[in-house]
Amino acid sequence: MSDKNGHRHFSKAYEKLFIQQKVYDLGLYLWPALGKINKEQRFVIVQTLMQEFNEIKKLVFVANKKYSKKDTLRKLDTEIGAFKMDIQWANDLGYLKDPQFEVIANCIIEVGQMVGGWLKSEREKSGTIDADGKEYLCSACGAVITKRISDYSSTHFGRSLCYACQKKVSKK
Ligand SMILES: [Zn+2]
Repeated sequence: MSDKNGHRHFSKAYEKLFIQQKVYDLGLYLWPALGKINKEQRFVIVQTLMQEFNEIKKLVFVANKKYSKKDTLRKLDTEIGAFKMDIQWANDLGYLKDPQFEVIANCIIEVGQMVGGWLKSEREKSGTIDADGKEYLCSACGAVITKRISDYSSTHFGRSLCYACQKKVSKK
């Protein structure tokens, strides 16, 4: 299941399903491993990890279905970050003696990288990032805008503004 060339492009449907499969596999390791550490005082962290995993699993599914994926992928990215932190936390507390947790930790890192690549390709598709991967932002309110809007605004208003802020400026 591991990626040999280190690059992922998400234009093809099977690549998107690859993440879904990866997250599914992660769960197959995670569930029994969490079951082993499910003692009273550890219940909270076990429950947190299970909830975070369920959210990740659901968001990957939703992102695959949705036409506009960026918001879902951003949420997914945040949830993966929280899951990684809590896995580390459980490990530092000495709860994760299971050798499977190394597999789980590597698995979630891989999923995180795939989601990062996916998000980048979605942003490129919608024209909201430049060649260096930097987002086009409204200089007044900070909203993400497309290159086309940014170029138009720079020509007509002398700076990069979203539609709403362009309207505000032209009213004055
Ligand atoms: Zn704005």
